Amino acid sequence: MKLATKYIHAGTEPDPSTGAIMTPIYQTSTYVQEAPGVNKGFEYARSQNPTRKALEEAYAQIENGKYGLAFSSGVAATDAVIKLLSPGDEVIAANDMYGGTYRLFTKVFEKFGIQFKYVDTTNTENVAAAISANTKLIWIETPTNPLMNITDIAAVAAISKKAGALLCVDNTFASPYLQNPLDLGADIVMHSATKYLGGHSDVIQGCLIMNDADLREKLYFIQKSCGAVPGPMDCFLVLRGIKTLHVRMQRHCENGEKMANFLRTHPKVQQVYWCGFTDHPGYAVASQQMRGFGGMMSFTLKDDSVENAKRVLSSTHVFALAESLGGVESLINHPASMTHASIPREERIKNGLSDSLIRLSVGIEDIDDLIADIDQAIG
Ligand SMILES: *Cc1c(COP(=O)(O)O)cnc(C)c1O
Repeated sequence: MKLATKYIHAGTEPDPSTGAIMTPIYQTSTYVQEAPGVNKGFEYARSQNPTRKALEEAYAQIENGKYGLAFSSGVAATDAVIKLLSPGDEVIAANDMYGGTYRLFTKVFEKFGIQFKYVDTTNTENVAAAISANTKLIWIETPTNPLMNITDIAAVAAISKKAGALLCVDNTFASPYLQNPLDLGADIVMHSATKYLGGHSDVIQGCLIMNDADLREKLYFIQKSCGAVPGPMDCFLVLRGIKTLHVRMQRHCENGEKMANFLRTHPKVQQVYWCGFTDHPGYAVASQQMRGFGGMMSFTLKDDSVENAKRVLSSTHVFALAESLGGVESLINHPASMTHASIPREERIKNGLSDSLIRLSVGIEDIDDLIADIDQAIG
């Protein structure tokens, strides 16, 4: 089935009791049983909910996986993956990733005895070199947030298989429309569904998708035991978002390309980070593992002062100054003080994330208005 058809029909069957074409919002905490232990497969809504079940099926289908699990946020999905591990286990993680993931690893899980090694995964030899007998998980993000670095998923999958470790890929930035890590050998795909999957900046949610039944059982056990499940209304919103993923992503890609090219030729712009440029270091890998380059990008100005960056950030009228990404509306963000403030400054600078970097989530408005807005803000 082609992507457009799959996204519109994924997970949704007419409701068996009424024929409703849209999956109802089953706003219930429990289910009446016919006799003790005799039920319709639903006992208590932390463990099972029909709206969530439809969405989990949709998650599996859109990532070409067998199983999907929904969580109350992206970080809750990440949290569940780390809870597969035990004290003494080691994780190799990318040195350039979502600030909240780094915070969860360093501030929450390190104290439980899980070790994290951060490496530049754009060179997969660094990953191979960091493997030890205790390595149980490799965690990567590609493209990365906010520098748009690219890691070769198939190459890292080969390293993880050889080491007997799991590979989890945070696929939030690409979305399933542009990239499917399970097809490239990853064991788990994670999304912040808050972003492109929901697509309308109206819901917080996360998900995990996998092929292995045993792994699914372990993660489902964590989902119900720890309880970070999304409510049925939130599941409904993401189910609705997925139906237009392909149309939105096509426009994000078109607008993204035009914006990246505009910025690159702007006399006051120093550098543009966008993985669709043929001279981007990850371009060859990106064009192999992705179907397009999306609407996320970052840039710096020739006047590299923080004040100048803050001036631009405060001068847009169409772009809204806000954290998050992937919605229909365009957002502008200052990673150093907003999304990535939880990463210590030395770490940030070392990884190339300067204080003056500006990140754009290019939405699906008319591109002429978006370019005019950024142009007048740069001034
Ligand atoms: C937003 C984001 C997360 C965290 O997801 P939440 O839904 O905010 O909990 C994880 N990874 C990436 C790449 C993100 O952009």
